[in-house]
Formats: sequence, C-alpha cells, structure tokens
Amino acid sequence: AFAEEFRNEPAVDFTRSEVREAFPAAIATARSRSGQIVPLFINGRDVATTDRLASRNPNRPSEILGQVCQAGSAEVEQAVAAAAAAFPAWRAAPAAERAGCLRRVAALVREQIYEQAALQVLEIGKQWDQAHADVAEAIDFLEYYAAEMCRLAVPCAVGVVPGEENRLYREGRGVAVVIAPWNFPLAIACGMVSAALVTGNTVLFKPSGLTGVIGRRLVELFTAAGIPDGVLNFVPGRGSEIGDLLVDHPAVALIAFTGSLEVGQRIVRRAAPLHPGQRQFKRVIAELGGKNAVIIDDDADLDEAVPQVLASAFGFQGQKCSACSRVIVLEAIHDRFVERLVETARTWRLGPAESPAHAMGAVADEAAQRKILEYLAVGREEGRLLYESPVPEGEGYWVPLAIFGGIRPEHRLAREEIFGPVLAVLRAADFDQALAWANAVPFALTGGLFSRSPEHIARAGREFRVGNLYLNRAITGAMVGRQPFGGAGLSGLGTKAGGPEYLAHFMDQRVVTENT
Ligand code: GLU
Repeated sequence: AFAEEFRNEPAVDFTRSEVREAFPAAIATARSRSGQIVPLFINGRDVATTDRLASRNPNRPSEILGQVCQAGSAEVEQAVAAAAAAFPAWRAAPAAERAGCLRRVAALVREQIYEQAALQVLEIGKQWDQAHADVAEAIDFLEYYAAEMCRLAVPCAVGVVPGEENRLYREGRGVAVVIAPWNFPLAIACGMVSAALVTGNTVLFKPSGLTGVIGRRLVELFTAAGIPDGVLNFVPGRGSEIGDLLVDHPAVALIAFTGSLEVGQRIVRRAAPLHPGQRQFKRVIAELGGKNAVIIDDDADLDEAVPQVLASAFGFQGQKCSACSRVIVLEAIHDRFVERLVETARTWRLGPAESPAHAMGAVADEAAQRKILEYLAVGREEGRLLYESPVPEGEGYWVPLAIFGGIRPEHRLAREEIFGPVLAVLRAADFDQALAWANAVPFALTGGLFSRSPEHIARAGREFRVGNLYLNRAITGAMVGRQPFGGAGLSGLGTKAGGPEYLAHFMDQRVVTENT
C-alpha cells in the first residue's frame, strides 16, 4: 500500500464564475508586481549579483517579469558550502519533520493557486487550465512525497532469522543539485526539489533561465514553511557559466535534471569521474526527451481520437516531453482521420495565453521559435503540409500550429524531438507496421493507441515499449500517484516521478545487523 492517504488536487472548474473571475484578477496582480530584481538565496539570505537576466512574457517579449540575478562561480561555491554545512542536521531531522515542511508548502500553494497559475500565464505563456494543472501537480508532488517519505522512514526488518535482527535504513546522500526545466516551471521544479529535500538532502536549485521568477517563488514558499537556513539554496544562472561547475563539484552527491537529451548526456558524462576530494559517486536522476506516437487503429472512435490527439500534440504549444509528435494512422482510416484532424485543428485560435479564447500561444523564446521554424522547412521537404494555422500579428515568439502528412519513419520529422506544435502524420499498412514504427525511435517516453479491438489493445500493452502508454485517451497530463511518469531508452533513466520508487533514488540504504 503506497501513500494510501494521498488524493490528487482537483482539476479547475471553469463552470464556476468565481474561478473565471479569479484568473484575470490574479493576472493583473502578478503583472503589477512584475519587473522586480530577483536575487539568489543562499544560506537563508538574499544575494544580489550584477549579472542579470530578464525574464520575458513569450506572448509579449517587451514585458519583463523579473530581472533575475545570475550566479557565478563564487555564488556556487557559497551555496555548496552552505548546503554541505546544513546537511548533517537536515539528514538527522525526523522524516516527519521534513514531510511536515512539504505539507506546509502544499497548503501555502493551495492558498495561492490562482496567483501561482497567473505567473505561469505571464512568464511562460501557459493557458489558464494548463497553468492551474501545473500548480495542482506541484501540490500533488508535495503531498505525495511527504506521505511516501513517512512510509519509507520506518526502518524495515529484512531476513528474519532467529538470533539475528536486520534493519534497513534509508537516508539522504548529501548536497543535491536540481536543474529544472521551464515547461512545467512549478510542478517539475517542485517535484525534484521536494523529493530531494524530504529524503534528507540539501539542495542547490537552478531554475531555467526562462522561469526564474517562478523558481524564486518556490523557494520563498519553502522559506515561509520554515525550512532551515542552507537547506534550500536558489542559484539561478546561465548553463554555460555554472552548469558544469554545479555538476563537477566534488561536494555534490546527486543531480536531478529534467530537460533535453543533449544536456542530460553531458550531465551523465560529467558526473562520472571522481574529482580531488570527492567522497562518493554521484547519482544522476534525469528525465529527457520524447518523440511520442499515437496509433490510430482502423476501428478507432474518431470523436475521441481527433480532439485527444490535438490536445496531446498542441496543448501548451506542444512544449511537453510527453506531447504527441507522430500520429501513425492505419491505411483504412487514414483519409477520414486526417480530414477530421485538420478540420478540428482549424478551430484552434492562436493568441496570448492571458485570454482563455486562445487555445495556443507563443512558444517559449526566440531560440525555440527559430528551431521550430527550421523544422517547418524540413517538413515541407520531407512531406506535405496539411495545415498551417494563421499566426497573430505583432510581438511574441509565434509559430503556427502545423500538421504534415506523407511522413515516413526515416524522415527527420519522425525521428527528432521538435518540442513545438508540429505533428507528423504517418500512414501504416497495418497494425504490425504501426507498432513497429511506434517503437522505431530511441526515445521511449509516452505513447497512445485509439482502438476498439481488445486484441490490439492487449498487444499494445505488451509490445508498445514506452514509459507511459495511454489507451483511448490523451497522452499528456500524467497524474502524480496514478501515472508515475518517465521513460526508458533515451528518454531518461527511468526513475518515474510521482511513483512509489522515486524517492529511493535520492537516498542511500544502510543495513544494521544485530546479533541478539
Ligand atoms: N508530466 C507531464 C505530462 O504527463 C510531462 C512532463 C514534461 O513535459 O516534462 O504531460
């Protein structure tokens, strides 16, 4: 029985007028506070640096949410020293005390749910419902890991033999570096930070450069919940300046990362060697990319499949590692599916996330925009453009919602992660071929099947090798505790966030044997 008392935070209910009114009010409040200087937080104190990075609204880049101070090597050294000094006492604190801290943070986030969601609408361009879901997921991580830690903290008796008592203990490893992504700026950051903390590690948290304001808020919540000085340190900084320093540091025991395959590989490689003075091997927890496929069987219910594929492919501009980027359609249903897919895609209006009328907004930054536009050119060469949405005028990192047909498994559009609103349609001769193509990429994160055939559903369950497979539903939106999330292959190290084994990766085990 895992974390039995855990319940997911309820989804937002936009039929209630007070909810609909809360959002614009919260957005206005968040906006009125924007533009401030966001300092680092080391050993319980704000630390301002002169190197600053502006955090911008992707839908309106002239709007600056915060000037985020950037850490350099001196601040990294200070933060590591503070975290190392705070570690023994934090490790020794009763698990219930650490879990209590997470629960207090959860209560605070719940109180500020609209405020927190509004910040995501502005800082990264998340739609209202998705921003709310992100904040709710952060609460879920806090509650779930708190409950899980209480379960794991009870030393478990192993190998019962007369005259001998064996007790298995788990404890934190030391200083943990958490390197978080911008796409789930509160949920994923909070998930990794809270897992590292509740297990008794002390943390250096580096948010993405695109979401430093949200990152700082997370740290403030932990401070308000009474986390001791030095246990959680906030070190925003440029990856090129401090990324390697954080990973290489001999006092670092663990690195938790969510992001690209490219950076993930670099972290795994750099974490391997022992540096002078290093006393333990580093452990790496990494969630990386995906090139996720949904198979449309010839008997699929298109009333379900069409909107669910669109939501999976284009929700939050396709900027989820779980997003659908390939749809593999069986020959017999291909033309009917594609026609309905495109017709429904036409109803998606693009515009700033501040208005709930817009189903899709601008992408994260200029680099993302450039990369996606390059892939649109690749798609035009490799396949056939089935639909490209109009793009709003004016400022904003706009790219169209795009669907390409005639894509083959060997095409770049079928193999490379784009991390944007680009969907490739592949036509498969039969179910065998569809399954083979679905499994043909080295990523293995999410996947889906729409089918009414019990045989095909069962076969997908056995042979569609991804970390999270969804049958007859969307492939994004994993819930903490219900769909432990993460993939194998090149999608990550398979640690499954929000699942019963996740916390174990943040701890060492000790067995104490007593001759009785
Ligand atoms: N957990 C998210 C989902 O299931 C995806 C996380 C990510 O994109 O990193 O949609």
